[in-house]
Amino acid sequence: MISVRDIHKSYGSAEVIRGISFDVEPGEVVCIIGPSGSGKSTILRCINGLETYQKGDILIDGTRVDPEDKSIKAIRQRVSMVFQRFNLFPHRTAIENVMEGPVYVMGMPRAKARELAASYLDKVGLGDKMDSYPDNLSGGQQQRVAIARALAMQPEAILFDEPTSALDPELVGDVLGVMRQVAEEGMTMVVVTHEMGFAREVADRVLFLEGGVIVEQGPAGEVLRNPQELRTQSFLKRVL
Ligand code: ADP
Ligand code: MG
Repeated sequence: MISVRDIHKSYGSAEVIRGISFDVEPGEVVCIIGPSGSGKSTILRCINGLETYQKGDILIDGTRVDPEDKSIKAIRQRVSMVFQRFNLFPHRTAIENVMEGPVYVMGMPRAKARELAASYLDKVGLGDKMDSYPDNLSGGQQQRVAIARALAMQPEAILFDEPTSALDPELVGDVLGVMRQVAEEGMTMVVVTHEMGFAREVADRVLFLEGGVIVEQGPAGEVLRNPQELRTQSFLKRVL
């Protein structure tokens, strides 16, 4: 579904992605782990067309991701993104935040979008918070609204960039629970996370990134329990 082929990306003279390749099959959950600054957010942003890249190809079901082409709007609809800091519209209620994409991007009638948004808010356990403003929701609730918003675009895949890193520890579990449910329902997911328990239990595959390259990748159980590379071993020792 997602094919990343030999991507190179520089900011000025600094090459931060130095030849990354991987594929994500439909329904697969791939977790990306690695130290801060290793390029995890950058590669997600490239897949979603939020960043340009200088070399290589990213294909979504065969369509090349080109941030400068008009096809990029359709790509962003097919591959939605959940950010560390939720990025909700502060002056819109939970349900209005979720309706936004269906109404303005997909051109859905408001009544139908409202119905759809309500069903997704129910799904993430916020059926009773539809008319709340983001400021009146906890970080965990805001992130679940953001996940409902991503789902409401009826995407083929969802990219998550450290979705629980900004949350108080006691709120992390609810968000991971919703992500697990979305995964079990067959969504294709790429998840940048430091939650090794989630990676071990939910991911099909784990990629370990460092210095803009994939140092090691494989089935989640193997990479996390029995890493082959020294750099993976020392990273896991620090985070586990
Ligand atoms: P991670 O998400 O793994 O912490 P990032 O993808 O955010 O890493 O960053 C990778 C590298 O690219 C870092 O060295 C970071 O400083 C650099 N970088 C990220 N965004 C920018 C930017 N907009 N301009 C310049 N350098 C950037
Ligand atoms: Mg990051």
